[in-house]
Amino acid sequence: MSKTFEKVSAIRGMNDILPNESWQWERLEQILKMWLAQYGYLNIRTPILEQTRLFARGIGEVTDIVEKEMYTFRMGEDSEQLTMRPEFTAGIVRAAIEHHITYDRPQRLFSMGQVFRHERPQKGRYRQFHQVSIEALGFEGPDIDAEQIIMLSRLWKLLGLKDIHLELNSLGQIDERKAHREALIKHLEAHIDVLDEDGKRRMYTNPLRVLDTKNPAMQEMANQAPKLFDFLGEQSKAHFQEICTRLEEAGISYTINPRLVRGLDYYNLTVFEWVTGSLGAQATVCGGGRYDGLCELLGGKSTPAIGFAIGLERLLALMEQSQGFIAPSETDIYIIHQGELASRKALQIAELCRDQGWRVLVHAGSASFKAQFKRADSSGAKFALILGESEVNEATISIKPLRLDNDGMMAEQVTIAQAELIEELQKRI
Ligand code: ATP
Ligand code: MG
Repeated sequence: MSKTFEKVSAIRGMNDILPNESWQWERLEQILKMWLAQYGYLNIRTPILEQTRLFARGIGEVTDIVEKEMYTFRMGEDSEQLTMRPEFTAGIVRAAIEHHITYDRPQRLFSMGQVFRHERPQKGRYRQFHQVSIEALGFEGPDIDAEQIIMLSRLWKLLGLKDIHLELNSLGQIDERKAHREALIKHLEAHIDVLDEDGKRRMYTNPLRVLDTKNPAMQEMANQAPKLFDFLGEQSKAHFQEICTRLEEAGISYTINPRLVRGLDYYNLTVFEWVTGSLGAQATVCGGGRYDGLCELLGGKSTPAIGFAIGLERLLALMEQSQGFIAPSETDIYIIHQGELASRKALQIAELCRDQGWRVLVHAGSASFKAQFKRADSSGAKFALILGESEVNEATISIKPLRLDNDGMMAEQVTIAQAELIEELQKRI
């Protein structure tokens, strides 16, 4: 006797995407690919698993991701530690270095797919989620910085999004951050009583990240903290100003948010986020910035770079709240039949229709005409083709339009010779 099997469900925070929503993903992915091609970005596909060292180094030891969100394991005693990618940038840069692809030219690259972070699941925050990650390697900017932001603004237009707003900041360069860091640590020391556990732990290792807190009790302290922007030198300021000018010329409005530091450690100069008021607490749809130091940090030659990542779950949630996509029909033609001869003829006719490139569903199994018509209607097909006994005997077929035509009229059902079917449908589709 076999024991009854306890049903398995998906892992918490990891979602199945069922056919009633997967079409929206496909539509979005299509639009994204077209948009990326318009700006000359080429696809790169790296493994989901990487050595843990890559992320520890590339994202930074003192970050939420590396400290507590990574799915890390070993295969066997001697194996190195492996981690499911929590983001794309480190892997893409690793691959670029490994294959020397920025050796003689800069590269515009993108990846799209799953990433994994062990966070507390809630609306807009999952443990497996999807990103499209865009990386321009070998570009100093600020022209490319502005282009990436303009590019995003075009995407929101393509998707019909209105409630989405740009926040911008500059993190300057390392030496500038050092001077700010000292001032910041003094400020944190003076407000140690409001710091939470993370804050206290990070105030000396990564004080800038303390300002990226989501803890409401620390907001006041964070708002009053010394602003990095005030510590920037002429060059950093000029880089930032140049971006602002280009954005203004492109008619893109933005807010300068001096507290915007981003969760990842490797950013310098430009940082930006696109936020919405429509998704509650999980408001950031896209985040990005410049990371000129990352290639060298990962053992490559110094390569200026800038990139951003869009969270696709949040993007789709936002789209659903605006007008969303219009659901596609399942098929163009639905073939209804009765009797064995008709059922065989239906398969042949379906193939002839597919030769024309049309989408065709043949009713599978047997059912009453009424039940088949109901299914044809719910499939969204434009036409039902009917093969009853009389049609089979007379080598005819009936065409029943299922949708209103442009004048708001429903055309009549007609019966024609099977030999004329394709020609007749060509006129109508
Ligand atoms: P947050 O501050 O919301 O945790 P983050 O700074 O960790 O975001 P990034 O690492 O910049 O996020 O990732 C880029 C985008 O991926 C985010 O702007 C967001 O849209 C999306 N994202 C991040 N974490 C999650 C998650 N756990 N579930 C769903 N989407 C996410
Ligand atoms: Mg996060």
